[in-house]
Amino acid sequence: MRFDVVTIFPGMFGPVFQQGVIGRAIERGVIGLAAHDLRQYTHDRHRQVDDMPFGGGPGMVMKPEPVIEAVESLRASNPGPVILMEPWGETLDQRVAGELAREPGLIIVCGRYEGIDDRVRTALQAREISIGDYVLSGGEIPAMALIDAVARLVPSVVGDPSSLAQDSFADELTGWPQFTRPADYRGMTVPDVLLSGDHARIKQWRRQQAQQRRGAHTKELKKT
Ligand code: SAH
Repeated sequence: MRFDVVTIFPGMFGPVFQQGVIGRAIERGVIGLAAHDLRQYTHDRHRQVDDMPFGGGPGMVMKPEPVIEAVESLRASNPGPVILMEPWGETLDQRVAGELAREPGLIIVCGRYEGIDDRVRTALQAREISIGDYVLSGGEIPAMALIDAVARLVPSVVGDPSSLAQDSFADELTGWPQFTRPADYRGMTVPDVLLSGDHARIKQWRRQQAQQRRGAHTKELKKT
């Protein structure tokens, strides 16, 4: 699967995706990732990507032409949908990630400043995705979250596929508590059931724990 990112900070992506499972998938050629400098698609001497908002107000708005030209040129080699990272977009969750993982590729546009000229959205028939109800200073970190969540669902990216099946949200339950050695660390011990070797009991315990965690989290959400 191929990810093409349009950003004014292409250098942010290399260091993040050189590491871990996604880094290995890129090395093996299962995942292709390229970050493209939006300024390459400007035509003026100052390589300007932003301008003042019509109607007034603070800050700057990303100009439509460079973004649209960048995406048009990337479309030649990436047949996937265009995604705009936007705080008001559809919230990224495991279902959305799974849907996008079935695409041959994604072209992802990272906003900056006060956001992207609205004509980009309509001209490119883009899907807008948010990583949550809070505002970051740019779309790069949201794009990284999206790429990571989607890429690890692409077949063979994660070495042991059963680890995906036991992920949080893979079924109706969130993750259960995990422990590794030592079994006793400063008097904090691992639950006996996990050392019992009784797989049926372990499975039941994990489901119970996951349910409890989900219950606790739901309560937290209700309080706020
Ligand atoms: N003034 C805008 C915020 C712009 S933030 C507003 O109130 O909606 C600048 C850019 O950061 C956005 O264009 C978007 O690309 C990115 N961004 C910020 N928060 C985000 C989030 N929660 N999810 C996805 N993208 C986000």
